[in-house]
Amino acid sequence: MAKHSLLSASASQRWIACPPSARLCEEYADKPSEYAQAGTDCHELCAYKVEKALGWKVRNPTKQLSFYDEEMDECSDGYRDFVMECVAKVKESCDDPLVLVEQRLDYSRYVGIEGSFGTGDCVIVADGMLYVIDYKHGLGVLVSAEKNSQLCCYALGAVDLFDGIYNIERITLVIYQPRRANISLYKMEKNELLTWANDTLAPAAKLAQEGKGEFKAGDHCQFCKAKTNCRKRAEYNLELAKYDFEMPATLDDSEIAAILPRIDDLASWASDVKDYALQKALSGTKFDGFKVVEGRSNRKYTDEDTVAKTVQNAGFDPYEQKLLGITAMSQTLGKKKFEELLGGLIYKPAGKPVLVPESDKRPAMNTAADDFKEN
Ligand code: SF4
Repeated sequence: MAKHSLLSASASQRWIACPPSARLCEEYADKPSEYAQAGTDCHELCAYKVEKALGWKVRNPTKQLSFYDEEMDECSDGYRDFVMECVAKVKESCDDPLVLVEQRLDYSRYVGIEGSFGTGDCVIVADGMLYVIDYKHGLGVLVSAEKNSQLCCYALGAVDLFDGIYNIERITLVIYQPRRANISLYKMEKNELLTWANDTLAPAAKLAQEGKGEFKAGDHCQFCKAKTNCRKRAEYNLELAKYDFEMPATLDDSEIAAILPRIDDLASWASDVKDYALQKALSGTKFDGFKVVEGRSNRKYTDEDTVAKTVQNAGFDPYEQKLLGITAMSQTLGKKKFEELLGGLIYKPAGKPVLVPESDKRPAMNTAADDFKEN
């Protein structure tokens, strides 16, 4: 119920921006994905490690995790350390904070639907303050804590539970997203949260529940079940195409600048439509002018052991010797030995230039044009 409730906190960014999407999504089946399962596994490991660090008696779930690997182990270690740092910080001003792991947080009364709740990965409550910490295992989208509606919903649930005892005034929302090296914090007063609940959340929830309001396309579409064949999203992305007839033969820089913010949405929509059409075509739909063919494939050995033996018997070495990669080498030597032996032999080459919006947190690169200006 929590995961797929009509007004789930995790989908709140989408249904607040596009209220009718909530009812529309009910018409689509859930598609379980490997990414989601890996995320679930990592959440379980994170919860275990934090509970253990808090001194609770808990069972190690690692053997039951299908997607457990070295990276997941490192991510969950980092998360545990971060949470424990937060706990230590809170303890500077309150001896006995309440730390809750995987806490059910119910925000039903703000959205008007019973059973609207989510699970806060870690909630720390102390005199006058509340921390809501959410672990994100995803790599695709950099998540910000700033006015993050999912965390705001969880904070509302936590305020309802604990305000009477702890008189909460200051709230800190935290996203911990290790695979993007992202720790995002947003501090807000309780009043700001309650004003948001009243002015933004509740009206959008009412429209969403009634299947009313305006369809609105944007970044949030990428997590919508209707994204492949939603008319509004198609119109939004095809708006660019209509300029073909209005623009002169070549685009000037200001026109390119106007197109750039829309390119990522356009590309992801195009790819969604292609995937959707392929699935339909494989199930028998005929799209005019299109057919399904076999894609390119590479030759493969039918039996690698037999190949190796055959080549060895013929007097050749079938294997190549390769230096271990940095991760594998670090695993072989252990982190300390790796640093000791190879610390001075590691460098990080400059990454390939990427054009991103000004809002991106990375510092701007020094380009050849900049060098030229300076001389
Ligand atoms: S794809 Fe976008 S515009 Fe269409 S219903 Fe979903 S969120 Fe709304």
